[in-house]
Amino acid sequence: MRRTNVLVCWIIAASVGSVAAHAQAPRPSGAVLFEGARLIIGDVSAPVENGSFVVENGRITALGRRGTVTAPRGAARVDLTGKTVMPAMVNVHVHIGYEGYTSWGAQNYTASNVLDHLQRAAFYGIGATQSVGSSPTDASIQLQKDQQAGTLPPASRFFFMPGMAPPGGGPDAVLRVGTTTLKAINEVSTAEEARSAVRAMAAKNIRSVKIWVDDRRGTYPKMTPEIYTAIIDEAHTHRMLVNVHATTLPDQKAVVKAGADVLVHMVQNEALDEEYLAILREKKPYWATVIGLGDRTEVCEPNAFFEEALPPQLVASIRATTEARPLAPSCGPPSPNAATREKMLTGNFQKMIAAGVRLVLGTDTGIHPGHTFGTGDHHEIARWVQLGLSASDAIVAATSRPAELLGITDAGTLAVGKSADFVVLHANPLENILNTRTIADVYLRGAKLDRVALLAKWKNAR
Ligand SMILES: [Zn+2]
Repeated sequence: MRRTNVLVCWIIAASVGSVAAHAQAPRPSGAVLFEGARLIIGDVSAPVENGSFVVENGRITALGRRGTVTAPRGAARVDLTGKTVMPAMVNVHVHIGYEGYTSWGAQNYTASNVLDHLQRAAFYGIGATQSVGSSPTDASIQLQKDQQAGTLPPASRFFFMPGMAPPGGGPDAVLRVGTTTLKAINEVSTAEEARSAVRAMAAKNIRSVKIWVDDRRGTYPKMTPEIYTAIIDEAHTHRMLVNVHATTLPDQKAVVKAGADVLVHMVQNEALDEEYLAILREKKPYWATVIGLGDRTEVCEPNAFFEEALPPQLVASIRATTEARPLAPSCGPPSPNAATREKMLTGNFQKMIAAGVRLVLGTDTGIHPGHTFGTGDHHEIARWVQLGLSASDAIVAATSRPAELLGITDAGTLAVGKSADFVVLHANPLENILNTRTIADVYLRGAKLDRVALLAKWKNAR
């Protein structure tokens, strides 16, 4: 039944997306020399000032200082003098498919809507996007196959992982309505059930699994140590990574000790202690912060970057919402304890970084109505810099490191042999991280994304 729906949706998506697809058709073998930009590599190496690179067949085939790079005879030339080029970003934590921009829920979860979210991510320079624990497995695998076959319009590369929780547990009350309808969570009651569910995922070549270890202030059944230990053990046997939602200090300590590979949230309500920092120094998990979730302050004032892809009525409804921040997408006053929260956040963030955890970009976008695929990423990395991270470290955590986490070997940096997934910026984000928002163009697999056509599609949508 679901497979049939997916196929029907793809037929619709293919016809709706055909304009953009034709406009963006790459010249498969035509070499292009991009000249004169500052090149931010995306790893720890220094930027190349006045750089040049060659793209052929969707890949970077040469890169260096201008004048040291030779292009094949007949190559097209693109002058990027004064611009900055950085790798497309990678977001390891979203909840794709539910947002409809005028409604939110499982009724919106179609392949064409997932593709729409991936296009929104691409529009904002996100080259790969991972949905975490809320996407139906078989439909998601089909979508990945279609995307890899090249039959879909250009969009952010799609990654997903199944979720596991005790019966009645897992995602928060809003998302749970959606995941329950789509049967997107594996509910497990015993260690043996848990192991068997992990084995079934491994049999489908799934690389990662998400678990929730949270009783939501005593209102949810919480996954027991016996079960998550079994999940971690079984997953590691199959070389799978376990992503854990845990938001309290005792829970994070316990799951990191047990071998959790990725933390998808941060402790925000109590200071990290020395015992936890010692565990982190030893285990060095990956870590997605999700600081900006629900903070829509950029939408409260006119700001083209944040509102250009949104229906005006959504912008108006966010601006009209006055619930205290940061709990809802709203333009109300900061919550009374905002200053205390910020101090705690700053302390915990800096301790995590100093302990050597491997920061990666994750935003939780899509979990509640009114969030925006793509802009949330720029918001999150700017928050890191506000909390004390350098802009260059923020870019690494948004490009090469999340690519490494997702096992993407051909993207995440600007280097010879990599897929030409990059963003051209009018201004240098190493000087001011807000400059990641000065997007001139986005290229995926060497082809320029038709951002104008995408914007027209969103503006014309009802
Ligand atoms: Zn999430």
